[in-house]
Amino acid sequence: MGKLSGKTVVVTGASRGIGAAAAEEMAGEGASVLLLARSAEGITALASRLRKAGHVAEAMTCDVAEFTQVQAAIGRAHEAFGRVDAIVNNAGVIEPIGPLASADPRAWAHATDVNFKGVFNGMRAVLPEMRAQGAGVIVNVGSGAAHNPLEGWSHYCAAKAATSMLTRCAHLENRGRGIRVYSLSPGTVATDMQRRIKASGINAVSQMDFSQHAPVTDPARALVWLLTEDAAEFAGQEISLRQPEMRARIGL
Ligand code: NAP
Repeated sequence: MGKLSGKTVVVTGASRGIGAAAAEEMAGEGASVLLLARSAEGITALASRLRKAGHVAEAMTCDVAEFTQVQAAIGRAHEAFGRVDAIVNNAGVIEPIGPLASADPRAWAHATDVNFKGVFNGMRAVLPEMRAQGAGVIVNVGSGAAHNPLEGWSHYCAAKAATSMLTRCAHLENRGRGIRVYSLSPGTVATDMQRRIKASGINAVSQMDFSQHAPVTDPARALVWLLTEDAAEFAGQEISLRQPEMRARIGL
């Protein structure tokens, strides 16, 4: 029996990076997973690989910035699995990177639609069902950028700060109904996003050596843990993988 046997999980931004690693880790622990991303290639390849390994996995293209698409994806999870036990709102973008003073207003707003509104869309799509079933887990992937302004990342820092508050609001409204809501701050992680940050040359994060970033398996294992009852006492909180005590608790 895996830690997530019998559970059904929707993971946004599952085509690569943290989302793909989390979906793989969750499937390995017995969860049925629905992988979402805008592009089909990565999620269909991963779902097929997971099925070949004997796991239950489906893939569907979905832009989290569009509520109707997120709602349709939750419908697909129902068709495939019968219910949704958890959603990981992980999809995110760092671009456009650059000064607020010269930001393209449409591109800036679109990034906010993905990083902030996308999290609302994910929660809004699953909460009615979770409230009706009296159970569910929601994890919103946050960032230390929610608490520290960084040059060139105004939309990202602002959206992650807003997501942190949105997580707390969702917890307040749904605690006592069997629903646990968390945000996970993963630290810096070796993904494509960090490659794009490095290429920008803007701010201290871009100066970090790639080897300094944590492997994707760290947040993936943390996300598995958050879906288990062992994490229940931390409901409503932001879990930071920079904290040694929290890492020890998770077993990292
Ligand atoms: P990544 O490697 O760039 O992957 C991002 C994922 O999000 C991809 O699967 C991408 O697939 C998907 N995505 C982007 N826009 C989307 C949209 N509109 N709708 C649906 N899916 C979308 O990034 P990552 O590093 O794994 O980041 C994952 C999360 O961790 C993000 O929320 C990020 O802010 C957060 N985070 C990362 C770090 C880090 O150091 N890497 C640190 C702190 C927080 P498509 O392009 O196919 O849509």
